[in-house]
Formats: sequence, C-alpha cells, structure tokens
Amino acid sequence: MIKNYRVGIIGATGMVGQRFITLLQNHPFFTITALSASKNSAGKKYADLMADRWAMKEGFTDAIGEMTVLDADNIDAVKSLVDLVFCAVSLNKEDTKKLEEAYAKAEIPVISNNSAHRKTPDVPMLIPEINSEHVDIIHSQRKRLGTKKGFIAVKPNCSIQSYVPALEPLKDFGIEKVAACTYQAISGAGKTFDMWPEMIDNVIPLIPGEEEKSEKEPLKIWGKIENDVIVDTDKPEISSQCIRVPVSDGHMAAVFVTFKNKPSIDEIKERWASYKGEPQELGLPNAPKQFLHYFEEADRPQTRLDRDLENGMAVTIGRLREDTLFDYKFVVLSHNTLRGAAGGAVLMAELIAAKGYFD
Ligand code: NAP
Repeated sequence: MIKNYRVGIIGATGMVGQRFITLLQNHPFFTITALSASKNSAGKKYADLMADRWAMKEGFTDAIGEMTVLDADNIDAVKSLVDLVFCAVSLNKEDTKKLEEAYAKAEIPVISNNSAHRKTPDVPMLIPEINSEHVDIIHSQRKRLGTKKGFIAVKPNCSIQSYVPALEPLKDFGIEKVAACTYQAISGAGKTFDMWPEMIDNVIPLIPGEEEKSEKEPLKIWGKIENDVIVDTDKPEISSQCIRVPVSDGHMAAVFVTFKNKPSIDEIKERWASYKGEPQELGLPNAPKQFLHYFEEADRPQTRLDRDLENGMAVTIGRLREDTLFDYKFVVLSHNTLRGAAGGAVLMAELIAAKGYFD
C-alpha cells in the first residue's frame, strides 16, 4: 500500500504543467497542494490565468481553479505545502539546474521534465519499464547534495520514448546499429496550431538539439551504476533525424536495426508481446497493462487512431519487415506529452514512491 503524498507543480501554467494537472487531479495517492509558475503568474487565481490558455481536452477541477499560483522562486512558500514537486519550466539550462537543485537542497524531491540534469551522472533518467534499477543512484546523489530526502530524477527526451522501448526486449540479440527518423508533433514544442499557424500544411526538417539527445540519451538509459554514477553504454551506435510534422500530439519513428545475432520476425514479435517492466509487476496506477502493442494491419500504428492507447501510456509498433541495408525496419509511435512527458514523469514518481524514496 503506497501512502499519500502532497505534490506541487512548478510550471503549472505551461503545456506540460497542464498535463500534470489532468493526470494528478484525481490520482489515488498524489494530491495537488501547490501550483507555481513565473513571477508574472504569481498571486493570480489559476482559473483566471488559464481562461484563454488551457489547451487540454479535459478540464480542471473547481478546487484547482481556485488555487492561487505561487512564485516558483519562493521555495519556502512551496515547501510548507508539499512532499515533492513535478517541474516543467521554460527556463535556460543553467537557471533550470539552479532552480531544481535549490528545491532538492531544500529537501523537496524533484520529478523533472526538463533536460537540464539529464547528463548529470548521479541523476537517474528513467523510462520506468526499462531502467527502474537506476532509482538506486539517488543514494549517491543525496551524498553529493548533502540531503536526507531531496533529490532530482528526470525523464528522457520525448523523441526516444517510442524506439527505446521497442528495442529494449531485443537487447540480448546484440543490437549493433540503429537508425531512427522521428516525425514529431507540435505539442512537443509546447504549441498548438492556433499558436503556430506556420505548421499547418508544413514539415520543418529541424528540431534544434533533438538529434543529439535522440542519439545519446538511450546510452544512459541502457547504462550501469558504477562507483556512485551511471556510466553510459557504448552500444548500439545510433543515428537519428528529427522532423517536425503537422500533428497535434504523438511522435512517430521509422526505425532500422542490425543485430549481432539476427532474430526471426516471430521471435521479435513474441518479445514485444511478452515484455513487462517493474511498473506492470507493481500494478502502478499509470502503468499500461500491455506496454508494447504490435499491429498486424499494414497501415498501423496511425497517430490519430493509436496515440491514446492505454491513456497514451502504451507504445504501438507496426510494419516489421526485412530491410535491404539493415536487418529489419519497423514503425513505432508514442504519445509525446503523455508517455513522453507528464505521463512518463507521473509513472516515474509512482515507481519512486513504491520504492520508498519520498519518505
Ligand atoms: P511552456 O508551455 O512554455 O510552459 C512553461 C512554464 O514555465 C510556464 O508555466 C511558465 O510560467 C513557466 N516559467 C517560465 N519562466 C519561469 C520562471 N522564471 N520561473 C518559474 N517558472 C517559469 O513549456 P512546456 O512545453 O510546458 O515545457 C516545459 C518544459 O518541459 C521544458 O523544459 C520543455 O523542454 C520540457 N518538455 C516539454 C515537452 C512537451 O511535449 N511540450 C516534452 C518534454 C519536455 P508563466 O506562465 O508564468 O510564464
């Protein structure tokens, strides 16, 4: 039985912050007790601030609407109200690092959507079904920060949260080379079509910084804890191209892969069908029952039809076939603001709660 925790959302007015609210406002063991954002929003009622900014299909409760938004820099005010915070802010890397460390040092655990601490070697970067054992690096991080309770845990970039899950069950065939071309939704940039009309009927072949994250972050996810840090693996070699497409939500990837010991198509499908991680074993509230779904239909997965499977927390795969240059190619889809952002962060917090690290 997991006990109840009071949670704050830093960046509550933003795109990811709004998602956090929809996922946490009826959560079985997290209760929203504080909302914060920049100084511009501080002191205002959430409902007034969001009157023409709320972008989610579901609404927020009256209790959330009545909350007064706090200044995220006023850590003392937030601290008295929460046991942990979720953080998604549009600040530069250095300021984000400082803000998150200030919360952790004030003994408030930080579950972060920001990229600032992804490369910090004692900060776990989690896809809960894949590297849940990395949670244990929190002991080392607390030693460095000099905290008893405070720490930072981050989720990886949304671009890798389709193909890394699909490759995970195939690792023992020896994955040697991967090429991934991602087709990424506009909500990944915190935008809707109203805010970004240039994206209507358009494709932009650049998402600054995204390809490096797509190639490097999987190596930390698949890394090992050694001497108080997570050491990246050096295999597989990954090459990626990341492209912005006119889709509201859902990142698709076309993936090519070569193995040391090439499995059969049936072996790959069987691995996908039977794969389970710790969230499934623990029955965490936001864990999809079936993490990886393979479609036999030749024209699936499709973004509009399949991104919301299992509340947007499942990963859908299709079109597995032999390739002319690599061993195989396939297509994979995940919801970027659910599995790839706020949903993944909430699942990560559920896992960390189940392991007792918020106590
Ligand atoms: P966003 O819609 O632009 O929202 C930004 C939030 O940050 C707002 O709540 C804003 O508050 C707050 N903020 C700005 N300056 C601040 C300051 N000085 N102190 C405290 N809060 C401040 O951005 P977003 O799309 O939600 O993204 C937030 C973070 O999540 C970014 O690091 C982004 O890279 C990451 N992320 C986004 C996605 C996605 O799919 N969108 C996916 C993964 C990760 P005000 O309203 O008061 O300005």
